[in-house]
Amino acid sequence: MLKVKPPDGYPPEKGRVARGNDYSPVAVCVILDTFDFAIPPELEELVMAGLDAGCALSGTLQTENIGLEKMICNIVSNPNIRYIVLCGREAAGHLPGESLKCLLRNGLDANRRIIGSRAPTPYLFNLPEWVVERFRQQILAVVDLLCEPGSTDRNLPGLNPEVVAKAVWSCYQEEPVEFMGMKLYDPGAYPGDPVLCKVAWKVTRPWELLGQKRPEVSALVLWKLLPKTNCGKCGERTCRAFASKLSQWMVPLEQCPLLLEERYAAEREAIKRLLLSD
Ligand code: SF4
Repeated sequence: MLKVKPPDGYPPEKGRVARGNDYSPVAVCVILDTFDFAIPPELEELVMAGLDAGCALSGTLQTENIGLEKMICNIVSNPNIRYIVLCGREAAGHLPGESLKCLLRNGLDANRRIIGSRAPTPYLFNLPEWVVERFRQQILAVVDLLCEPGSTDRNLPGLNPEVVAKAVWSCYQEEPVEFMGMKLYDPGAYPGDPVLCKVAWKVTRPWELLGQKRPEVSALVLWKLLPKTNCGKCGERTCRAFASKLSQWMVPLEQCPLLLEERYAAEREAIKRLLLSD
């Protein structure tokens, strides 16, 4: 069976992931529905259950854009990974679990939006499209144990460490075994070289790409160029709040989906010019 030694530098995005058995065909993705500083112990237990059971990578996923992009980087750098065990409970605000499944099922549209995702900003701007496609080809299936938002019952499959461990075990069997209606086994590595890439930070720190200092931009000026609907789709309650964060480069402008529409093309370009000006 084909197995590949992951390259030096694997996994490239180390933030929220722990490394297990490099030759395992499965990664565990625990949806994080809280802030970083308050990871509930039951979710940490799921991460550990995946590692103890022999997965390649086990970590948390919080957002439908940058978080997902980092996960893609880590997985394409290890061709042995062919399955993702998805567990925990969906994060109602970001819908990262739904976005992951939609990405694998449907891919991206011409605006790099995940087709079918109902998340606020399911855009993957920071990775080349071929890397996203490679991810979609490499992953054969998601073992979907994800619970509904707000679930707390530890007997639910997606919150039960024993079920997560059984899912991981099933993925690395040499002969197919049945697990919750799926036939799982280790098919060997994806027949392609490891892809070692990181999330490009040009969206969050573009001035460094251009060799510039971070420009000072007035939040008020930015606000005047925003759609001013206060629709909240960017994750902020108002356009003013979004403008404030935008002026400090705490959010990418693409996080306002309205700005991506053709009717706001002039405003979008004006904002880009302001943010990139010296
Ligand atoms: S910045 Fe955009 S997404 Fe955010 S509230 Fe304003 S119009 Fe809506």
